[in-house]
Amino acid sequence: MTKQSFHTQIVHQQINQSEATTSKTTPIYQTSAFTFNDLDHIEQYYDGEVPYLYTRENNPNNAELGQTIAQLEQAPAGVASSSGISAIMAGILSVVQAGEHIVAAQDLYGGTQQLITKQLSSLGIEYTLVDFSSSDAIKEAIQSNTKLLMTESITNPFLRVENLKTIVEIAKGHNLKTMVDNTFATPYLLNPYTWGIDLVVHSATKYIGGHSDVTSGVLVGDNDLIALANKKVVGLGMNLSPFEAWLTERGAKTLALRMREQSANAQQVAMHLEENNSVKQVYYPKNVSSRGNGAIVTIELAHDLDVATFFKSLGWIKIAPTLAGVETTVSYPSKTSHRALTDTEKENLGINDYVVRISIGIEEGDDIVSQLNEAIANATTT
Ligand SMILES: *Cc1c(COP(=O)(O)O)cnc(C)c1O
Repeated sequence: MTKQSFHTQIVHQQINQSEATTSKTTPIYQTSAFTFNDLDHIEQYYDGEVPYLYTRENNPNNAELGQTIAQLEQAPAGVASSSGISAIMAGILSVVQAGEHIVAAQDLYGGTQQLITKQLSSLGIEYTLVDFSSSDAIKEAIQSNTKLLMTESITNPFLRVENLKTIVEIAKGHNLKTMVDNTFATPYLLNPYTWGIDLVVHSATKYIGGHSDVTSGVLVGDNDLIALANKKVVGLGMNLSPFEAWLTERGAKTLALRMREQSANAQQVAMHLEENNSVKQVYYPKNVSSRGNGAIVTIELAHDLDVATFFKSLGWIKIAPTLAGVETTVSYPSKTSHRALTDTEKENLGINDYVVRISIGIEEGDDIVSQLNEAIANATTT
């Protein structure tokens, strides 16, 4: 090796590059590319013997996250991407092309609806949104160019639990693929792939990451579909950054503990709010899984309450347009997630100005109940 000047030395001072270091956790491979010893080594990459070339194509942290969630979902393969929305987009584009058609649930997450109705439709992908609780409505919406049925295992904000068995049957009967957004249920409560769903997608921004410090997505399915989806992630530049993959993976390690605690707290909160006369309706699903029913509780406050006062009286419970962190937060669908909808569209979905979505955290259940009761009491205009 020739002698290096300071300027050369400073950019070549890589110390511990070896794979042989036995660090307890996977290090963050914060690198945009990987290096090669010689031309044969490059050939080995294209022969599939060497795994990494360029981070947009693949990176150990991203690969690990895809594999982790695939395992938890009991699916053969997974791919991580930059957000829940990009994972959904990769899933759709691996199955549907311009001129083809999607039948999707009308109560999909707002951002997913916008993706389908605004972005993908402008690229020539057709859609029909229908009420997925009616199998007749789904069947009537299927056209000769339909390729995909898309829904969520537990919907937002009213927590309708999808009948996955029916969806799979309809799809089989019409030779369609199926995709289910499993964000609210998490792989702890439900594994749609084991029901026969082809693609299962997560906004890992939510429970999988779990700490409200990262935006990421994961899509899982069989090897062929995930290979296609991976081409979309790479080719359309929807890759996740290694650090965000690492943070998501770190969060995922406590998914079971968090979901156990949060679901138990949610059950307690739902039970107490049922008994509160100032709450018109409590939405909390039943029989989701033997491990619990999830950690979101949606309520419709009685219409004589002052909603603004309720939101001002929440104390340590913060207002946030997201969900699934370790802290209890509340959101206001009519002014955030569903703001873009017309009044009629909101009415059709049952969203009015008294609907509040509560994402239950890991605090002491009694504390959550007392703080919510206090806010409701303050908002009661007598
Ligand atoms: C948040 C969310 C998304 C979108 O995920 P991002 O990570 O924000 O892109 C999709 N589906 C559901 C059910 C969500 O809650």
